[in-house]
Amino acid sequence: MEKEYESCTICPRSCAVNRNRGETGFCGETASLRLSWAGLHFGEEPPVTGKNGSGTIFVTGCNLRCNFCQNFQISQEGMGAPVSLSTFTRICTALAEAGAENLNIVTGSHAIPALATALREARSCGVTLPVYWNSSAYETIEALELLQDVVTGWLPDLKTLNPLFSTSVFQAKDYPSTAKKALLWMAHRNQQVIVRHLALPGRKEDTRIVLDWFSTKLKGKALLSLMTQYTPVSAHPQSHELTEFQNRLLTEQESKELVLLLDEYGIDDGFFQELVNDTEWLPDFIRTQPFSSSLARPVWHWKEGFIHS
Ligand code: SF4
Repeated sequence: MEKEYESCTICPRSCAVNRNRGETGFCGETASLRLSWAGLHFGEEPPVTGKNGSGTIFVTGCNLRCNFCQNFQISQEGMGAPVSLSTFTRICTALAEAGAENLNIVTGSHAIPALATALREARSCGVTLPVYWNSSAYETIEALELLQDVVTGWLPDLKTLNPLFSTSVFQAKDYPSTAKKALLWMAHRNQQVIVRHLALPGRKEDTRIVLDWFSTKLKGKALLSLMTQYTPVSAHPQSHELTEFQNRLLTEQESKELVLLLDEYGIDDGFFQELVNDTEWLPDFIRTQPFSSSLARPVWHWKEGFIHS
């Protein structure tokens, strides 16, 4: 039980529900920390993947709930299982024993108090891996401060700076202002920050606004990772709400134009993902191996528990 859950304002949604009593707000989660998958992931940026893979831990639930989410099974359909502090520590230990370069906590913004406690517990039990916080950046500074003694690097998204678009795809008009504050807070911590922007089909001007802001405020303090793997999710319950543009992959031409945009804003310190023209990036968390086998090696699965390979 975390006191912050009693009247939850952990994220900007400020639902004020009592998660300790089993109530749920926009994120759909009670006080119980639930996870869906943990394993080595080889598809992150080179400094995060390293030689042996990043020890990713996917958290169930989400406070943003994008209508194009590729992880919608876990972010919006509740796929996952509750874990105790000792199981969380065992998962971290199993990742370390599998050779993980780091721990990489994915989409845990709605569970910050429980994760901060769990990461402290893991550390007190001898887990020494560095910890990346991999999130949407829809986070308050007060919540991020709960993480400052356990997180060593930051992998925030900067999804859009267009409030009309953020309202339409994740019902958060304040996403741009909130994410900007969160990123600036992260960038002033003298820790590694890799800002991820997923370029969406037909939305080059939105990407331009993001690159413009990044080049002004964060260049030299953070790396930029420009991603092109957007894949429409036909099984997504809200996919009928996607615009015509969102129902396709990025084109070669759009990918080339993104490279030109990076040049235009003088952003040359970071990562650009080559266009992936298939659904290799679409995970299925029903399987113990949700990703293509070249991308990941499972260690723990919400239904099967620990995977011994
Ligand atoms: S963490 Fe969940 S319950 Fe708490 S304010 Fe955010 S969406 Fe609401």
